[in-house]
Amino acid sequence: MTRKQAWLTALATQFHRLPGLWLGKIDPDDSLARQILSAITDGILVTDTNLRIVEVNEAFTRVTGYTRHEAIGQTPRLLKSGRHGKEFYQRMWNALLLTGRWQGTIWNRRKSGEIYQEWVCISSFKDKTGQTTHFLAIFTDLSHQKALQNQIHLLAYYDSLTGLPNRELFNDRLDLALTQAHRDKSKIAIFFLDLDRFKTINDTLGHATGDLLLSAVAHRLSNCLRESDTVARLGGDEFTVILSGIHDQTQATTVADKILTCFKQPYTIGKRDLFIGTSLGISLFPDHGSDNETLVRHADTAMYRAKQRGMNCHVIYTPSMDIQYEQRLAIENDLRDTISENGLKLVYQPQIDLKTGRITTLETLLRWTHPQKGNIPPSHFIPIAEESGLIFEIGNWIFDTACTQIVAWREKYGLDICVAINITSRQLRNGKLVERIQEALHKARLPPAALELEITESVLMDDSRETIKTLENIKRLGIKIVIDDFGIGFSSLNHIKRFSIDKLKIDKSFIDDLNYGDGDKQLVKTIINMTHDLSLVATAEGIEKQDQLHELEMFGCDMAQGFLICAPRPASDMDDLLLNNTPWHKHFDAGDSLSTDSSLTMD
Ligand code: C2E
Ligand code: MG
Ligand code: MG
Repeated sequence: MTRKQAWLTALATQFHRLPGLWLGKIDPDDSLARQILSAITDGILVTDTNLRIVEVNEAFTRVTGYTRHEAIGQTPRLLKSGRHGKEFYQRMWNALLLTGRWQGTIWNRRKSGEIYQEWVCISSFKDKTGQTTHFLAIFTDLSHQKALQNQIHLLAYYDSLTGLPNRELFNDRLDLALTQAHRDKSKIAIFFLDLDRFKTINDTLGHATGDLLLSAVAHRLSNCLRESDTVARLGGDEFTVILSGIHDQTQATTVADKILTCFKQPYTIGKRDLFIGTSLGISLFPDHGSDNETLVRHADTAMYRAKQRGMNCHVIYTPSMDIQYEQRLAIENDLRDTISENGLKLVYQPQIDLKTGRITTLETLLRWTHPQKGNIPPSHFIPIAEESGLIFEIGNWIFDTACTQIVAWREKYGLDICVAINITSRQLRNGKLVERIQEALHKARLPPAALELEITESVLMDDSRETIKTLENIKRLGIKIVIDDFGIGFSSLNHIKRFSIDKLKIDKSFIDDLNYGDGDKQLVKTIINMTHDLSLVATAEGIEKQDQLHELEMFGCDMAQGFLICAPRPASDMDDLLLNNTPWHKHFDAGDSLSTDSSLTMD
């Protein structure tokens, strides 16, 4: 075998098995050798024992930027980045002299000045007498690989929308923090945040706006915490925070308050100023759990409680929350089943015009008879339906059922009666409500003027753009708006005027108070007068006693509703009342008529 052939074979077969490679001196005129050198994609650099570069290949030039001509005669110092100290080179030379080989990563500098990392394998070559004649370095530019690795790391551990750590990294960091806290006997606080009403923003303003808002929230959250704290996005509108090295609960609540304050400022997204709050649950190590999963679950439970408390607040976990949470979850699942089995029912309660004694409106009230738990009051399951979003399906069913039923009665008995349907704030904030109501009215052929929507005062307080717009559209259609349970909330006259309300329903608690003293009577009288001054209709609800009704008539109240007149009844029991729509005092004896709402009596 010729010397050239031996070299070729060695290079081809042992290229990846340094240090067995024997290179020797390359003959510059050897065109085959040159072709092979230039075909190799890794950089090659050969020096003599004085460390003068005697040969490089084309890949060397591609990576370093130096031509063969520029490199030959120089030493590898040409590529020195300045990132490695003397010891680094010393270790390298020691290994080379001892074993004839060194390999590792090294920072070098390209001709352009850019510093890059390469994987390099250096071997020494000896002649027959054992004397070192050359050093050969074969290197791979790691820049692309590093960039790729960084990219993979980013994708695996960071949320691509907000740039915050994702669930994976959050778990890693929490595990680390827990190990440290076990050692230091310190506390950790875990915050679980869920943005309030984010879904409404996403649904009404679009996902692009939602995404921008999430990024802005992430940015603000990170800014209001220390760099050592971890803020992560678990997904959707859920964020978590790890506060390590704290010593008491107060430290955690102080930070939670700070976060809530940060949320008070609007976010400018495009041309809009958006307000968004957050519900924040807190769990503490070691007080509420010692492992990652338990602590996060408990913070989540506390967050859920913060939502129930009216949102935009923080709540610290307590063990009793778990039981309530499970119960709530069970109710939600059962409600879902009941809906799919068409198991919900509507009952109707008449409202009479106090001048004529005749029924003008029927209020629909929802009833759920649970197979094991019996009748579950709407005040219990409607908030769950609201939080879980089931309210939309339920609401649609109520609109269709009630509108169809009322049209059937209007036609059967030739009555001009209206239907009053209770709606929740979440329904009002949904941009599709008006469309849905129009559909139900159209399908049933019910005129919009025959529909009343009952909303509570708290809904008026939510003067979000969506609510205002929906209420305006409802009014534009000719549907009436009623404030239910008036007097117990905090709505101002301003709110009432602004939303062009049609009716106020005075809350039952004021009607009950009519039996006690003149002061309470005066209050009811004042509310009725104020209602009239605002050109609204005054309705009293929850009337149970004849003398309450008497007082209300004296005060000029327009409409009345309550067990005294008629308890809510299923549609099948309404015929005797609606037939001729006889004035109620002729229909019933006051004493006989007082019936409790049997549909709500537990079995
Ligand atoms: P609300 O709209 O103020 O309804 C009046 C509540 O008072 C009803 O309770 C009714 O059964 C009860 N009631 C009527 N007259 C009397 C009376 O003379 N004495 C007493 N003690 N109670 C009387 P219900 O059906 O338990 O509903 C409670 C609340 O649940 C409703 O208050 C309403 O806010 C909500 N709700 C009921 N049905 C629906 C519904 O279909 N959709 C929505 N969004 N909410 C509903
Ligand atoms: Mg009502
Ligand atoms: Mg009410």
